[in-house]
Amino acid sequence: MLETAREFLSQIDNYPITPSLENKLATSDRALFVLYDQLNLAAFPSEILSQKPLLIFVESLAYAIAIPHHKQKLVYILSAQRHFAIACHQQGFPVLNLFTEGTHADALIKFLEQYPNLELTYMQPSEWDTRSQIAAMADQFGDRVKSIPNQFFIADPEKFKSKIKKGYRLETFYRELRKQTGYLMEDGKPVGGNWNYDKENRKSLPKNTSIPAIAEIKPDQITAEVIHLVQNYLPNAFGKLDRFIYAVTRDQALELAKLFIETRLDKFGAYEDAIKVGEPFLFHSILSIYLNNGLLLPQELCEMAIAAYAQNLAPLNSVEGFVRQILGWREYMRVYYEAKMPEVRESNYFEFTNDLPQLYWDANTDLLCLKDAITNILNYGYSHHIQRLMVLSNFSNLTNTDPRQLNQWFWLAYIDAYEWVELPNVLGMSTFADGGILASKPYVSGGNYINKMSNCCSQCKYDVKQKVGEKACPFNYLYWHFVDQHRESFAENGRVSLMVNAYDKKLEDEKQAIRDSATKFITGVARSLK
Ligand code: SF4
Repeated sequence: MLETAREFLSQIDNYPITPSLENKLATSDRALFVLYDQLNLAAFPSEILSQKPLLIFVESLAYAIAIPHHKQKLVYILSAQRHFAIACHQQGFPVLNLFTEGTHADALIKFLEQYPNLELTYMQPSEWDTRSQIAAMADQFGDRVKSIPNQFFIADPEKFKSKIKKGYRLETFYRELRKQTGYLMEDGKPVGGNWNYDKENRKSLPKNTSIPAIAEIKPDQITAEVIHLVQNYLPNAFGKLDRFIYAVTRDQALELAKLFIETRLDKFGAYEDAIKVGEPFLFHSILSIYLNNGLLLPQELCEMAIAAYAQNLAPLNSVEGFVRQILGWREYMRVYYEAKMPEVRESNYFEFTNDLPQLYWDANTDLLCLKDAITNILNYGYSHHIQRLMVLSNFSNLTNTDPRQLNQWFWLAYIDAYEWVELPNVLGMSTFADGGILASKPYVSGGNYINKMSNCCSQCKYDVKQKVGEKACPFNYLYWHFVDQHRESFAENGRVSLMVNAYDKKLEDEKQAIRDSATKFITGVARSLK
């Protein structure tokens, strides 16, 4: 990988270091380190950029292989960073792209030791491990290294961190942010009179709904080179790399954002919780990919959607749902991460010990809802949020899987996953691993809800109507088994505690059949049977 990477990096004029850059580095100068998820100069202070600092990028093999990230994620991160480095160079910034087999911090240490007059500024990394490594590097160099706050989010975590405890829910946070930003607000009140339109946003997809094809960006020479690198040097990474369709520059990402507003936003709200077999994207924007490495900024996306509402291009339920995902959910995840790391990483409220079932790695299963979601992930590094929650997290909970394994799998499997966003979603939201700080109950459901929101069940080998036995949908008996086994986690939740009562009213024969079916299935899954 090293040689091929070096060959490629020579496209950036300053790599290998030119004599003019050598002179510049030998005298006192200022450099700015730009991380893989900070690819937007608009987020950096103008007083720093106006000095035209040397921009340092690092390609870290240690980061790439720390966990077996999806091949498409590796291609995306690396290609977007290379494109951005070249764009910065074209804008007149001196640019240096370092390659290291170690961490980002390792590369910076070596570089700062080599150039003792150089001073370095960096923006706080969003991911914990990278942040810790760079903070340790900064300590080593004292005043020569300075950090600035991360500007890729809307909420100031310091303002909200102390509020993150049991009972402080998304809704409260979201309303505070709406008031702070003025997004979808009118005279201090929410536009349309309601803070959310979830009731209008839980529709299943009518049979003949036409779904706009997702725009595909053809890989250019730089991306093709990175694909070659990943295919040849990281063959054990997760997922497939037959087809890479994503944007890798800000201009491309902006085009896709406009296209989403024009062609998908209007129906996004109504069908955001729907699933259709073979349709990985439906009306979802997939812009989280570009938001989470900085190509797009959260404010501009919220404002684009709000402008579309003002121009009658999309209804309020869609626009508010979209704004809520960015301004509410995304920001809330980040503040939670800041408040609860690093302890939350090891949380496992139910003390589940089962390994993540093998089917998460190969989609080899007859449960069609799972097969479809995991096939999408293998093919695209993506599945939409309701498959993440209703299918993948639900099944993990119901099979008593160690949530920390699910957490790591989400981190490596999804192209838009960075630890600050996927960890709160998995350990806080969907698995209840944090014991109820973020969510009021674990996310579990039987097959009926999947049937209501998808077309999976009508094509599945299992029968969603049957409750127990060989042919029965496993989600059914696993759900009731979970309710029985973990009744204490539902006790405080009025609506769901009714399910405990419903279970208790079942006849003893049925309860025994549920226990038998669930135990047999979980044991089979734990032994990696499909
Ligand atoms: Fe999934 Fe059960 Fe429906 Fe099959 S029947 S698709 S396993 S919910």
